Amino acid sequence: MDAITYERAADVAGAVRAVQQPGAVFIGGGTNLLDLMKGGVERPVRLIDITHIGGLDGVTTLPDGGIRIGALVRNSDAANHALVREQYPLLSQAFLSGASSQLRNMATVGGNLLQRTRCAYFYDTAFSQCNKRVLGSGCAALEGHNRMHAILGASPQCVAVNPSDMSVALAALDAVVRVNGPAGERSIPFAEFHRLPGDRPDVDTTLRPGELITAVDLPPPLFSAHSHYLKVRDRASYAFALVSVAAALQMDGERVQTARIALGGVAHKPWRASAAEQMLNGQPLTQAALTNAAAAALRDARPLADNRFKVQLAQRAIVRAVNQAAGRAGGVA
Ligand code: SF4
Repeated sequence: MDAITYERAADVAGAVRAVQQPGAVFIGGGTNLLDLMKGGVERPVRLIDITHIGGLDGVTTLPDGGIRIGALVRNSDAANHALVREQYPLLSQAFLSGASSQLRNMATVGGNLLQRTRCAYFYDTAFSQCNKRVLGSGCAALEGHNRMHAILGASPQCVAVNPSDMSVALAALDAVVRVNGPAGERSIPFAEFHRLPGDRPDVDTTLRPGELITAVDLPPPLFSAHSHYLKVRDRASYAFALVSVAAALQMDGERVQTARIALGGVAHKPWRASAAEQMLNGQPLTQAALTNAAAAALRDARPLADNRFKVQLAQRAIVRAVNQAAGRAGGVA
């Protein structure tokens, strides 16, 4: 058994100082970290409990009309907060489609941003090949079971997917992650927060050593009238996405002013379908236009042996999610 020390941080500065000790990590809700520790995937020697830091557990309005969600807000509280429900229903839906109510009651927004892939080979240390766990060891999923794995943006070193529903909605909404670290505060545009695996699949985000996530900022709500989060999974609850779609639209009658589409379950990070967005922007939302845009979103897909079905599934999920965002019942998924 590993010896572990535990300390509570009283404030952000204290937490940032404490985590610079060798083997130290932050712990919030712990819903992912404790699983990883029990399986021997992560072996910290110091836990810095950040849940008693004041000022990080609220949802507040920003001067520009957006909102700030503190990093310690529980997923269930964020999903049910009036500002989130009414102004960012896409995000509320995404929160509520993730995990179980018990886990949502415990998990924090900051922790959700950092949850690690659910690749079974990553969690099972009996498998020696996993570049995310041991860099340079190989990737058991490439020739193994890869039904749940990536079809976009993967590398020969890792084909894992990001498991977060919340992050897919935040990608579509152009959120900003606020962090505080040894060099002070900074803001990270959401598109730059998670990484593709490349040759460093062991690194999931662009956080620098010692940085603590303090909040997520959302721009003013432009999409509250027309948005939809669609999650396709093997069972109706408590399952990770095979494919998910966060669709948000600004409509002018039948014409799309602005489309935002992000995909989950397909890549190492939430995947913005930029080509599809550009094909829809300024155009009438016809089914032909939507089908073409969905095809463009998956043009660069490189499926593995077990997950070829995801390409068509993702296309159909885009069609359905955008139709539902537009207030139409159509679409096949
Ligand atoms: Fe490890 Fe990534 Fe390969 Fe899974 S896909 S076994 S996480 S390297």
